[in-house]
Amino acid sequence: MPRFAYNVGVRIYMDYAATTPTDPRVLEAMRPYFTEVFGNASSVHSFGQEARAAVDRARRTLAEALGCQPSEVVLTSGATEADNWAVVGVALAHEAKGRHLVVSSVEHRAVLEPARWLASRGWEVTFLPVDRHGRVDPDDVRRALRDDTVLVSVMHANNEVGTVQPVAEVARVARERGVLVHTDATQTLGALPVRVDELGVDLLSASAHKRYGPKGVGLLYVRRGVRVEPLLRGGSHERGRRAGTENVPAIVGFGKAVELALADREAEQARVRALRDRLVCGLLELEGAVLTGHPSERLANNAHLCFEDVESESLLLALDLRGVAASSGSACTAGSLEPSHVLRAMGVPRELAAGALRLTLGRWTTQAEVDAAVELVREAVAELRRALPRARSTARG
Ligand SMILES: *Cc1c(COP(=O)(O)O)cnc(C)c1O
Repeated sequence: MPRFAYNVGVRIYMDYAATTPTDPRVLEAMRPYFTEVFGNASSVHSFGQEARAAVDRARRTLAEALGCQPSEVVLTSGATEADNWAVVGVALAHEAKGRHLVVSSVEHRAVLEPARWLASRGWEVTFLPVDRHGRVDPDDVRRALRDDTVLVSVMHANNEVGTVQPVAEVARVARERGVLVHTDATQTLGALPVRVDELGVDLLSASAHKRYGPKGVGLLYVRRGVRVEPLLRGGSHERGRRAGTENVPAIVGFGKAVELALADREAEQARVRALRDRLVCGLLELEGAVLTGHPSERLANNAHLCFEDVESESLLLALDLRGVAASSGSACTAGSLEPSHVLRAMGVPRELAAGALRLTLGRWTTQAEVDAAVELVREAVAELRRALPRARSTARG
C-alpha cells in the first residue's frame, strides 16, 4: 500500500468518514487528463473524443459496481448535489401525483435541508423515527406512506454513528405502494455491497472522496424510466439531465477509486474491522464511555462513542493538540453546541450526546496508530475531567 506523510509523522488521521486521501494510484490514473488529454468531452474533434472515451470507461466501471446500465449513472459534483437533486428533482417531476415525502430523521443534511426547503414551499414531509441504535423500522415507513407520497429517502449507512439501514426492506414496502425510493450510499459504496437491484432503489447517491477518490465528483443513479427534473440546465451533457462540462480527471479518478475499492473490498473491510474492534475495546475501558450506534449493523470503520462529563469540542481540540484528527460525528454541527440531529433522533440523553467522539479508520490506519489513539484519548479525557468545575465523574459509584 502506498504510504502517506501522516503515516510516518506524528499525526494520526482518524476521520476517514469526513474525507479520505486520494489514493496515489487514483492520482496517477487522473494525471494525464489535466494536460495531455484535456479536451472537452462534448467536442467532436479527437481531443474531445479521447476525453469522452475516458468518461465512458469510468461510467461503465461505476455502473458495473452498482449493477446498472451506464446510461443510469449521472455524474455530479458530489453527493450533496446528488442528494439535493434526488429529493428536489423527484418532487418537482411528480408534483401531479402529490406533494408528500418521507425521509429518515438521521439523513445527512444534504437530504434533510432540501426536504425542509420543500416543506417551506408547501410540500409535506414525514421524518421517520429511528430506534436507539439509529435504525429505521420498515413498519414506520409503511405507516407513513400515503396516496400522495412521491419519494422515500433512507440512507444506506449513517455517516455519524455508522448504522446500516434496512434499505432493501424499506424499498420493498415503498415499491408495493408504487413510491420511488432514494438511498444515500455515500458511506457504503466500496465498503458494503451496493447493488441497486438488491437494494431495490430507484435513485442512489455516492461520492468519490469518501472512497479514496478526488473531492468534487459524485453520482446519482437514476433507474431507467424514473423522471427527475434537472436542477442544472444548460448544455445537453449527461443526456440532458445535468448540464456542465464534465470534470474529466475527477470522473476518471472516481472510476479508478471504485475499481480499486471493489477489487480488495472484503479483505480491506476485514482488516479495518479488526482495527476498529481493537480501538473500541480499548476506549470502552475508559470510565464513562458508551458505544453509540448499532452493535453489529454498522460500518466496519466506524467507532462512535459518548463520554460522560466531557465536552465534545474540547475533546476534539485536546486530541488535535496530541496529533489525533477526530470528529464529533457531524461536520455540519461543528462549532455549534447543539447535539447532533442523529443522536437526538436516537434518544441519546443531551448530557451524553455533548461528549460525542467519532473515530473513523481507513486504508492507511495501522495497529500502532490505534493503540496510540487509545492512549491519547485516555489522556485527553482525563485532562478535561480534571478541569471540570464539578468533578462529577469522581462522585459516581
Ligand atoms: C459526505 C457525505 C455527503 C456529502 O458528500 P459530498 O460529496 O461531500 O458533497 C452526503 N451524504 C453522506 C452520507 C456523506 O457521508
